[in-house]
Amino acid sequence: MEGNKVLYKKYSDHLKDKYGEKVYKLPVNLPLTCPNRDGKLGTGGCTFCAEEGTGFENLPNSYTVRQQLIENKDLITRKYKAKKYIAYFQNFTNTYLPLELFKAYVLEATEVEDIVEIAISTRPDCISEEYLAFLNEIKVKHGIEISVELGLQTVNYHSLKKINRGHTLAEFIDAIMNIKKYGFEVCTHLILNLPWDNEDDVIENAKIMSALKIDQVKLHALYLMKDTVMGTMYENKEFDIIPVDVYQDRVITFLEYLHPDTVVQRLIGRAPEENSLFVNWGMSWWKITEEIHNKMTKENTYQGKKMNYLGGKALDK
Ligand code: SF4
Repeated sequence: MEGNKVLYKKYSDHLKDKYGEKVYKLPVNLPLTCPNRDGKLGTGGCTFCAEEGTGFENLPNSYTVRQQLIENKDLITRKYKAKKYIAYFQNFTNTYLPLELFKAYVLEATEVEDIVEIAISTRPDCISEEYLAFLNEIKVKHGIEISVELGLQTVNYHSLKKINRGHTLAEFIDAIMNIKKYGFEVCTHLILNLPWDNEDDVIENAKIMSALKIDQVKLHALYLMKDTVMGTMYENKEFDIIPVDVYQDRVITFLEYLHPDTVVQRLIGRAPEENSLFVNWGMSWWKITEEIHNKMTKENTYQGKKMNYLGGKALDK
């Protein structure tokens, strides 16, 4: 893997540059829901989303934030002799709760030793000034970095409607502009093989991430669980999933159009097989990743190779 370092800007390298050593994420699981599930925006959720939210390696949400962080931290410290950690509020929509309660949860994380960053995962339509101002206070008072992870999945607003996201591209742009005012790093989740998206959408995903100066991206392939709307559609053969080699080519295209400074957290997600209908073509995430690395090396390509479209492309310079 070492020789692949230059293919794209890896998250692990970014963390090492920023914190001077390896930094580990500690997942925090709050008792939450999502406005796209509890009736505020909708009741069914995104058509691919299963009841349990997105994190599957979490401790139960009946544990306090402190308990979850300490337990996970002890485990990782023993295993890797780690010294720095990110408290990762991962599951569901972590800003979709009353401000005072949100503050209490986040403050609990600041009391745990060796936390250098707090990462808050949420929806673009659940970002507001009050929550951001509070996070900024944490940054200033406690010297803890803040990052925000936003689920978007695609910039194709027709597809966003089809997957019942409950927001469009505009809310995402608005959230990014607000987060950027505070200088927090922002990470965006994208699914590169939604059945209604083609290669043009993949390129537009990369272009919009670059134009908005998104700091980090996390790529996923569609993950289909039983008893979800999309799972049932898949069982009824209402759409096809592109073959794995086409997914890999899409990832490469995405990287070629992505700004070279954007950090790439992953090229494909990991997910449990239990109750699933489709997970990563039955292959391991690392094998798919390794094959992408090999293809990129063979094709002599790299992140940002085609990033020539910003700053007045049509002008002679
Ligand atoms: S926004 Fe996230 S938690 Fe809510 S329904 Fe969609 S995928 Fe599930």
